[in-house]
Amino acid sequence: MIYSESLEKAASIAKKTIDDLAEEKIAANPQNFTVWFDQLTGRNPELTRFIDRAREQGLEFSPDQMQKIYERFMAPENSNDNASGWSQRIGDVAAQIAKALGDVGDGTEKYGAILEKFSGNLSGTENSTDLAHMIGDILSETQSMNGQINNLQNRVSDSSEELENLRRELADTKRDAMTDKLTGLANRRCFDETLIQMTDDARESGKPLCLAICDVDHFKKFNDTHGHQVGDQVLKLMGRILVENIKGSDLPARYGGEEFVIILPETPLNGASIVADHLREKLAGRKLSRKGSEDSYGKVTMSIGVTEYLIGESMDELIKRADSLLYKAKQDGRNRICAARAHPGLQKAS
Ligand code: GH3
Ligand code: MG
Ligand code: MG
Repeated sequence: MIYSESLEKAASIAKKTIDDLAEEKIAANPQNFTVWFDQLTGRNPELTRFIDRAREQGLEFSPDQMQKIYERFMAPENSNDNASGWSQRIGDVAAQIAKALGDVGDGTEKYGAILEKFSGNLSGTENSTDLAHMIGDILSETQSMNGQINNLQNRVSDSSEELENLRRELADTKRDAMTDKLTGLANRRCFDETLIQMTDDARESGKPLCLAICDVDHFKKFNDTHGHQVGDQVLKLMGRILVENIKGSDLPARYGGEEFVIILPETPLNGASIVADHLREKLAGRKLSRKGSEDSYGKVTMSIGVTEYLIGESMDELIKRADSLLYKAKQDGRNRICAARAHPGLQKAS
């Protein structure tokens, strides 16, 4: 994570962090300090919102609660960035294997020397008792060597099991860092990376690519009326609706807060508009009610801006255009889509 505050600003945030932690009776350990510092900078709006709300509601920041906050808002990114931690662990396993091989190497050298000595003595020995002794000695050395090789096999097999576990853990961590915890969709980071890849592909293949930005209508009011947890259920529902109603090659992601994005590769604007309108209808058609009760929360709708990627433009231009089309859909009355190749208000490109 990059911290770009000036020295004075950082110092003042750090001081406020210490004061707040004392006031909230939270231990000022590095983990809690990072969480609080981050929420004060406002760089992580979801975290700031969460803490503000928790303070308003008088929630106790117990060590358990702080751990959960850390894991939810900070850990995924941190753990993925902790490349040196991973290489240290992988390095440790590699060193174990090297040591096991080295030990056997020493053993083989010794074994070779013993065999050589025996073969030298053998030529001068006619006596069957001496020969029997010699064979007995070779046998015991061979058994010892065999034991060492078995030991090596076990150690290498343990180490490769450890490497396999590490590989799996690393893959899980990478996946977590790309996933939005609440909805299970791809997160902003994954979206950014995928958009670059998919626009590159579109440029190479010459096939059209579209981007849709969806935003829940009047969500603040919905949250204020029914509570944040019910609001979160709506976001989860949004996630399900997106996943269930688009093609496997499309990428749905949570862009932040109550905004979602979908990248639609190999799709022209009219096709993407049909998909977007279908998604809009699906959400608008859902009656939301409390689990196991008839109590209705009413309906939730969304507005969507859809646009097509213009070869050569930047990601920023593409996202801004989709966003201004979303804004237009809101202005035109919400619960609708607005699709165009050009910025609303500008002449539409051919
Ligand atoms: P509009 O129709 O213009 O989009 O109105 P809006 O109220 O949806 O838009 P606004 O941007 O004013 O408010 C967005 C609200 O979304 C603020 C906050 O209450 C809610 N929100 C953002 N992130 C979350 C979240 O993670 N969970 C929940 N429950 N609510 C969230
Ligand atoms: Mg919004
Ligand atoms: Mg909204």
